[in-house]
Amino acid sequence: PVDGAALLELRDLKRHFGGVKAVDGVTISVRAGSIHGLIGPNGSGKSTLVNVVSGLYTPSAGAVLLHGAPLPSGSLFKTARAGVARTFQNLQLFTGLTALENVMVALKGVYRSPLPLVLLGLGRAEDRRAQADALALLDFVGLADQARTPAKDLTYGAQRFLEIARALARKPEVLILDEPAAGLAQPDVVRQIEIIRRVHRRGVSIVLIEHHMDVVMQLCDVVTALDGGKLIAEGTPDEVKRHPRVIEAYLGD
Ligand code: ADP
Ligand code: MG
Repeated sequence: PVDGAALLELRDLKRHFGGVKAVDGVTISVRAGSIHGLIGPNGSGKSTLVNVVSGLYTPSAGAVLLHGAPLPSGSLFKTARAGVARTFQNLQLFTGLTALENVMVALKGVYRSPLPLVLLGLGRAEDRRAQADALALLDFVGLADQARTPAKDLTYGAQRFLEIARALARKPEVLILDEPAAGLAQPDVVRQIEIIRRVHRRGVSIVLIEHHMDVVMQLCDVVTALDGGKLIAEGTPDEVKRHPRVIEAYLGD
């Protein structure tokens, strides 16, 4: 049960691409301390919605508010700095850099050191702190012993865990996860669920886009279902799963 205040609010949000109404007037209130699920069949507008909220796309209309104030739009970096970070459905790692370096690059938004100095490990106190923080984040997602492994040599599951460590480097209030269990083998799905729970226990509110209904059922307090860019149902995972419009939407998928 979540009774926190509205933390992140989407108000009549729209994003159109030419004639395609990818997100077509969606209003959602994400409460502080919740894990808020976002489901819907392929093409229902989930990724577009997240792309707008996270600052990658500007909205065609409507507003996104954090603590009642408008979030910046048109820049992932500015939105992350305002407190909303995300992961991507398709991974966005620096494949040639090590796991540690990938997190340090993400920390660059937090520390002022020029990136080349951070990566060369020239020993300014701030750089050493960044390295220690990066290691702590890798440890948090269970990758401490692979800190020196190039991202391209990590297993696919480990790459997905690394993406979460990178997003946490932004110290978000809200973390948006776009299909964090996509393509994972079952043991890694279990690990990923545990990582998401740990992030939540840290006090981070989570918006979880997920195709796997069992993952949604295990993690979410509230679920919003989209179809055709519109909200079709909202409630507890159980309520939404049973909702006739949701069942109908997935049958056509
Ligand atoms: P989901 O993540 O739920 O699968 P998307 O948000 O990716 O859905 O897509 C919603 C709709 O918007 C689809 O019809 C898709 O083809 C369209 N769409 C998404 N991104 C773009 C884009 N950059 N340009 C044109 N159409 C897009
Ligand atoms: Mg998507």
